[in-house]
Amino acid sequence: MNILGIDFEDWFHPELIQKYISNEKHEPKVVNGIGKILELLRKHETQATFFVVGELLESNPELLDLILENDHEIAFHTMKHTRIDSPNFKEQFENEILIFKKLTNNKSKGFRAPSFSLNQSSSWLIDVLEKNDYLYDSSVVPAKTNMYGIPNADKKPYKITSKCLENNSTNGKIIEFPLLVTKFLGKKLPAGGGFYLRTLPTRIIENAIKSYEKNDIPGVFYIHSWELTPEFMPKIELSKKDSFITYHNLDKAFDRMEKLLEKFEFTSFKKYLKN
Ligand SMILES: [Zn+2]
Repeated sequence: MNILGIDFEDWFHPELIQKYISNEKHEPKVVNGIGKILELLRKHETQATFFVVGELLESNPELLDLILENDHEIAFHTMKHTRIDSPNFKEQFENEILIFKKLTNNKSKGFRAPSFSLNQSSSWLIDVLEKNDYLYDSSVVPAKTNMYGIPNADKKPYKITSKCLENNSTNGKIIEFPLLVTKFLGKKLPAGGGFYLRTLPTRIIENAIKSYEKNDIPGVFYIHSWELTPEFMPKIELSKKDSFITYHNLDKAFDRMEKLLEKFEFTSFKKYLKN
């Protein structure tokens, strides 16, 4: 069984867009695509985990019921999509996790760091998750890319601690679910969604999932809300490189995700843990 997480964020949240826009309040647009995402999951009888950027629940509180009444899971992706290794973020995060707890009636037990920014300088976050009765984290990509990655981390779920992010600690309490990776042209590469779903040949991703299934490891997959509903995603002018990473093949993501939902079984983290 594989696991699907939807990083539910709006047009102004992706890191590569944030640096081009002002700090003022922006009007959410991508939230309006939630019906289309729920319909896709319903059609394929799939449950998923929604890692929601908390401020969207403040502006659109109806999102919580829509997610829960369709038997999906709500989880935390920070309040404003801040990198967790940003300077002085620790104190702010301790506050944010309490705000999100209130907004979700204490339903959130899982976390994903924006831009997979869990690393040595942000490992304190695991202790905060423990203190707040979280059960799992899914912020580790066991491959090195320009933007993130812990290349030596285990591929199968393990108990993570703030002292050891890479593999199992017997005294750990938080379960880490590393994202799907594969070997491509001799190099370890992320294959668990997002930019890689849009860019890699579909066959590479399918083979990666099959090889995890053969080894009885859950293929942990992610997709952004705005990748499934690009019609609600305004195009901002970015540098060539940032634009490629953010928008390349954006109109192909939905169909590619749907093909994977046809071929493989996915569930939410919560349901995976229950079984
Ligand atoms: Zn995100």
